Amino acid sequence: MTDAPSGSSPDRSGELPNDQPTEKQRFWDPVAGFGVTLRTMFKKVVTEQYPFEKQPTAPRFHGRHQLNRWPDGLEKCIGCELCAWACPADAIYVEGASNVDALPNGEGDGSGRYSPGERYGRVYQINYLRCILCGLCIEACPTRALTMTNEYELADDNRADLIYEKSDLLAPLLPGMEQPPHPMLLGSDEGDYYRGTFAAPPSPSTSTAPATTVDDDATLREAGR
Ligand code: SF4
Ligand code: SF4
Repeated sequence: MTDAPSGSSPDRSGELPNDQPTEKQRFWDPVAGFGVTLRTMFKKVVTEQYPFEKQPTAPRFHGRHQLNRWPDGLEKCIGCELCAWACPADAIYVEGASNVDALPNGEGDGSGRYSPGERYGRVYQINYLRCILCGLCIEACPTRALTMTNEYELADDNRADLIYEKSDLLAPLLPGMEQPPHPMLLGSDEGDYYRGTFAAPPSPSTSTAPATTVDDDATLREAGR
């Protein structure tokens, strides 16, 4: 019995298979391959030129968090820690503290008022090395202090910068807002804030306009939340 040529073996009948390509394989298979290329050349390009051209996200995309403010600039966070307890990744750290109004006789420790009511979030951190952007924390927040923006560029080259502090998360001051600490400017107590039964603070450009009841959602939209 003679040895079979290298790379082929006899079938059951003992005959060697024909290794030569057929006519179809020689002529039509390459044409079919280039056909895919030609068809694709005239289709719309789907490659995104990120980061030079950024595509808008879906409106309710879960991105970086934001700590919101009332229209007078006071913070909505009351330091209750419900967001931290709701977080499945243990990514949030909160330390609450008491608001201390400045008293007319000068008493008090001078720390001032940062939010309506008794407490505010003195320390607030979110660790984006842990956060999975699930949104459970914003569902747990009783004052809508915590919401999520559409910002998704959360990469960095070191671990420390991915732990966002309160100063990184606080919403910017819009026209008509004052930097806390300061007294409650929109009502006599926190109930006025939470019920929304207050008038919008006059802004420099609209000081002659009649006061209107503040729509909480409109305020959030204005702040880009
Ligand atoms: S989005 Fe989810 S993982 Fe991130 S801080 Fe909130 S609850 Fe935690
Ligand atoms: S963000 Fe909301 S849930 Fe979290 S501590 Fe502040 S008020 Fe409480």
